[in-house]
Amino acid sequence: MREVLRSADSIPTSVVDPIAGEFDALSPAYDVISAARTGQPAGAIAGGPVRALQVRAVPPAPLPMAQAGALVPSPSSVDGTLPLADRFGRVASDIRISLTDRCNLRCEYCMPAEGLPWQPREEHLTADEIIRISRVLVGLGIRTIRLTGGEPLLRKDLPEIIAALHAIPELEDVALTTNGVLLERQAAAIAAAGGARLNVSLDSADPEEFKAITRRDDLDRVLAGLVEARRHPELRPIKINAVALKGVTEGALDGLLAVASSVDAELRFIEPMPLDADRAWTPDDGLSGAQLRDLLAQRGELRPVETAKSATAQRYELGPGGQVVGFISSVTEPFCASCDRLRLTADGQLRSCLFSHDETDLRTALRAGASADELEALIRGAVWAKPQGHGMNEPGFEPPDRPMSAIGG
Ligand code: SAM
Ligand code: SF4
Repeated sequence: MREVLRSADSIPTSVVDPIAGEFDALSPAYDVISAARTGQPAGAIAGGPVRALQVRAVPPAPLPMAQAGALVPSPSSVDGTLPLADRFGRVASDIRISLTDRCNLRCEYCMPAEGLPWQPREEHLTADEIIRISRVLVGLGIRTIRLTGGEPLLRKDLPEIIAALHAIPELEDVALTTNGVLLERQAAAIAAAGGARLNVSLDSADPEEFKAITRRDDLDRVLAGLVEARRHPELRPIKINAVALKGVTEGALDGLLAVASSVDAELRFIEPMPLDADRAWTPDDGLSGAQLRDLLAQRGELRPVETAKSATAQRYELGPGGQVVGFISSVTEPFCASCDRLRLTADGQLRSCLFSHDETDLRTALRAGASADELEALIRGAVWAKPQGHGMNEPGFEPPDRPMSAIGG
């Protein structure tokens, strides 16, 4: 063990070497962990500045060694930073950052026809605040940042944010999820800012159906956006995300496959989740990944494609053309056990799970002058408290207070 701190009375346990895996308890006190990193003696910790951090997560009992052993060090632990781990051994490496709760579409599974009461703009994180939090997150092992919303292309400073993210040396991957309506106009600026792996949401390539789902007549703009995006290598790979809606997607499959193939995009199907603002979701609204695979298998052989363990989508190549299709089956085949994601809402609330009822207020801390160490402690506490699973299929499940558009999908 490289470093062990024996605690004062107020610090309940010792720490820490995740690389050697030799910790005799995974400390519930993140202040101890922070201090271990600064190299202060234990005595100084109890009364020192580190105790002043507002660490929220205090797990009731140490993990057994078997579970602690599941804490595979993140790459950053090699240089002495502890992995951004939760109680169940998962290590966060990916965050979705919402840039706005506003949107120019009104998808029926997401927003009410009349929209929502938008958050005041001054409550949204500024570009500088987003970058400051991102730097801390990357320092803790986050390697992918996906920008989302609401509709992120409504943020005028989007290229500026993307460029600043690319300037964070250890960040490996910048991605963007958009409805594509404003993409034709903005693709070049996003590419010039360094680009982003692009996910474009499209549930049907039929104009009337598109209009019925999104309550807007913008299919042509989305298709033009995809064509324009394809011209920019900085925006690849492109994925098209379709929410799998019973009674719609069955008939939309061929149109979606044609669009995906025409712009060299992977086509992915997402099971609808209880995140609609109308709270009208029922488990019967969606087609499951298994049902979709059966439908697609009628069009050609489905060959599994190897995919990273923490990936949300199960991927296949379809037929002789090899069109890649993916299935994100959060409802029927949950992947919570390998979830490495966090979410940051446009108003600066960190969520460890899409379905959390708890949020950690980074914006208030930031605006009150929190240091990077203080932000780190808040982030570690939030991650530690990540729930084991979304609980969607359990009795008593309550959807989160915020709908998808106000969390960031
Ligand atoms: N406005 C952008 C868009 O639509 O791509 C980004 C935000 S949107 C919330 C991100 C993704 O969440 C989209 O692919 C959308 O289809 C998906 N989504 C929204 N509501 C959903 C729900 N209730 N269940 C499953 N996916 C949902
Ligand atoms: Fe807007 Fe995206 Fe929600 Fe549709 S899914 S209403 S495009 S935020």
